Amino acid sequence: MLILVVNCGSSSIKYQVRDTNFDNDDQAVITKGLIENIGVDLPDHDAALEIMAEKLDEALGDREIEAVGHRVVHGGERFSEPVLVNNEIIRAIERLAPLAPLHNPAHAKGLRAVARKWPSLPQVVVFDTAFHRTMPEHVWRYAVPEEFYTLHGIRRYGFHGTSHDYVTGIAAELLGIDRSEFNAVIAHLGNGASVTAIKEGKSVDTSMGYTPLAGLVMGTRSGDIDPSVLTSFMERNPEVSAADMNRILNNESGLLAIAGSNDMRKVVEAKESGDSRAQLALDMTAYRLAKYIGGYHVAVGGMQALVFTAGIGENSAEFRALAVEQLGALGIKIDPELNAIRSDEPRVISTEDSLVKVLVVPTNEEKAIALATKDVVNQIWPDRG
Ligand code: AMP
Repeated sequence: MLILVVNCGSSSIKYQVRDTNFDNDDQAVITKGLIENIGVDLPDHDAALEIMAEKLDEALGDREIEAVGHRVVHGGERFSEPVLVNNEIIRAIERLAPLAPLHNPAHAKGLRAVARKWPSLPQVVVFDTAFHRTMPEHVWRYAVPEEFYTLHGIRRYGFHGTSHDYVTGIAAELLGIDRSEFNAVIAHLGNGASVTAIKEGKSVDTSMGYTPLAGLVMGTRSGDIDPSVLTSFMERNPEVSAADMNRILNNESGLLAIAGSNDMRKVVEAKESGDSRAQLALDMTAYRLAKYIGGYHVAVGGMQALVFTAGIGENSAEFRALAVEQLGALGIKIDPELNAIRSDEPRVISTEDSLVKVLVVPTNEEKAIALATKDVVNQIWPDRG
């Protein structure tokens, strides 16, 4: 099935056309691109789609797209799996805007623009939060007055779900373990980073929370901090607004604040040339991750595998080594030679005698969205192939 996978942001549309008959990206990805400057050079999402449609016509010739899969950041409490889009679903995504003000309104605009442009094309939405709907209440509730949750929907949702789900499936397969019996900890370490505890193939805890700010030290995000840091800082600096605090914690913190760069490659290079700030940033980032891994080992009743994925997890042998170095108490050891190998394939990097397998599994959110879209379409119209 030929699927158009799109990620509609407020000022851009990222797209990829995939043929689900192929597994490998070399064959599966027919074309991809990015349309930018919506709201600047282009008036709206409809105008961006016109440009995308022209590019698709050129790239696809007489082949036709059969369905569209959208990445949607927030599915709130309602959505626990991908669904076929209709007007009511678009309105529900819009109603979740208070939980994802930068993302959900843009997704809704993209969904409407596609429906106007190609009214007969089935659209499926795949939510970043959905995989974490299996977390138990004692994990997702915050210990604050009840109306935070009942009136405002403030609870842990978790993100990167499409990636954590996809990587869990590949890791279980690689180890020959039935997914329903697979306990693991997945570390998705990219620009945004999160760790998920997987018990019997499902998410039972994850480090991001109400928003993607919580948990690990990230490129520009602080991750977990004492909430009094905010109130105390704002009391001392009355001119600092909530929006300023949001910007500071989301865009000016993390590796950037400590090491002066949010790019892991540059931070590792700086450390190797003796930069003490880079050393501190790496120590903080690896230590925070190791604490989560230890905690989630308990949460899942003993992990069978620790899995690294995303930009840093897949590519930074140095950072993987720094994090695993701290897990000696759990009997986890990586083989330096296996760790140093660069590859696009899922692989084991632990030593034979490591008590837990350590894996690197490249994530592929576009592929996961395309496959989920195909599944939904096939369930509704089994004859579409
Ligand atoms: P992602 O959000 O998954 O695309 O990950 C992006 C991040 O991965 C970048 O900010 C880099 O810090 C990191 N990254 C990519 N390639 C490498 C590499 N070879 N070594 C270390 N970090 C890398």
